[in-house]
Amino acid sequence: RIRMILDIGTIIVMVGVTCAGLTVLTFVVWLSHREERFLLTWSIATLILVGSMGAFGFYEQSPSLLIGWIAAASTAVGAVGGWMTAMHLKRRRLAIWGGAVRIAVAEIAIAAPAVSGLPGTMIAAFNIVVFLCLMDAASVFWSIRKETRVYMTSLAVLSTTIGATFLLCGLHLLLFEQPDFLGIPQTALETVNGIVTLFGLTGMGALMLTLVHERIANQHRADAMTDALTGLLNRRALLDIGNASGTHDSAAVIIFDLDHFKNVNDTHGHAVGDLVLRRFTVICRQALRATDLAARIGGEEFAVVLPGTGEAEAILVADRIRRRFQREEIETDSGTVQCTVSAGVHASPRGSEWQLHDLLLGADLALYEAKNGGRNQVCWTEPNRGRS
Ligand code: GH3
Ligand code: MG
Ligand code: MG
Repeated sequence: RIRMILDIGTIIVMVGVTCAGLTVLTFVVWLSHREERFLLTWSIATLILVGSMGAFGFYEQSPSLLIGWIAAASTAVGAVGGWMTAMHLKRRRLAIWGGAVRIAVAEIAIAAPAVSGLPGTMIAAFNIVVFLCLMDAASVFWSIRKETRVYMTSLAVLSTTIGATFLLCGLHLLLFEQPDFLGIPQTALETVNGIVTLFGLTGMGALMLTLVHERIANQHRADAMTDALTGLLNRRALLDIGNASGTHDSAAVIIFDLDHFKNVNDTHGHAVGDLVLRRFTVICRQALRATDLAARIGGEEFAVVLPGTGEAEAILVADRIRRRFQREEIETDSGTVQCTVSAGVHASPRGSEWQLHDLLLGADLALYEAKNGGRNQVCWTEPNRGRS
């Protein structure tokens, strides 16, 4: 009964119109987000589908092998375009060779029965080609589901669902129609295939646009947490992450403050000062583990949180960084610059809960001692001092 409300021809027109809408929409969004070039690939793929749906419309009205071949061959290109969109999204690079090979294989699979004068087998081959393209695309979406789990998984599911209906249509043609069958079978299966395609393509288009906005939001979130000069966390991010990451295991904090840094700026200029800050960052990073948090908490002040680390070990780490930085000779246009750093260490009391705020206070007190003691040294406060 569905067939009577929605005949195949109407559905084909609807798919074509939907693709035209997606082409325009994706292209316009791409215009304002040029770095998301997968949108352009998707826009072109859907544009090809607009043309091929036109051809399928013709084929449905007055079937001929040639029109059927044109429709099938061009839709296959659009389907490979779907896979190329997924790859573009994944690698941020156009998969030209992968796309070319897939198109070549698809066109051979469709052309072989066409030149043998078997339109039924040709359309069956076409259906299976589209199924394979969609499964290929689904596996790409699935492989990057870590990026944004809900969207990528939905894209994979939609792609698989559309693919499954194409597979069924292909199998139906192979098993129940003659190889020289001309036209599109007027079956409920074809109707379901058309409706699922309509629904799936619209959903995939919407998901990809949402994905772009998600990516932009993630980028802004990352920017807001990062210190632009050094790429380390900023103060706010350190407090957010440090407080969120549990306060049960022991932890130690080191605060570094470069010595007489104002002199570096005054003597060599602000640009050299920036260079020194970046060089210190590199040395710091080399000395830390992946689980440690490093942040620039002030102009020439840095804080490091070492989870699971006791006082003695933290002092060693701080002193290793201090000695390494002291040896560093920074070449500049106005000669070689050397600088030193003072550090304050404070570890959490063994076996009791702690607050990052308290550890920072303790480390700050120790740093004050290091400065008063003549700079270029590491001081520490006993685990219970510095607690408010
Ligand atoms: P102390 O040994 O007591 O720490 O002396 P100091 O000169 O390092 O300390 P002070 O706080 O007097 O000066 C810090 C200087 O850091 C002053 C400021 O110009 C400089 N500074 C802060 N932020 C930046 C920055 O982003 N780039 C550069 N080049 N300099 C900065
Ligand atoms: Mg300083
Ligand atoms: Mg300072």
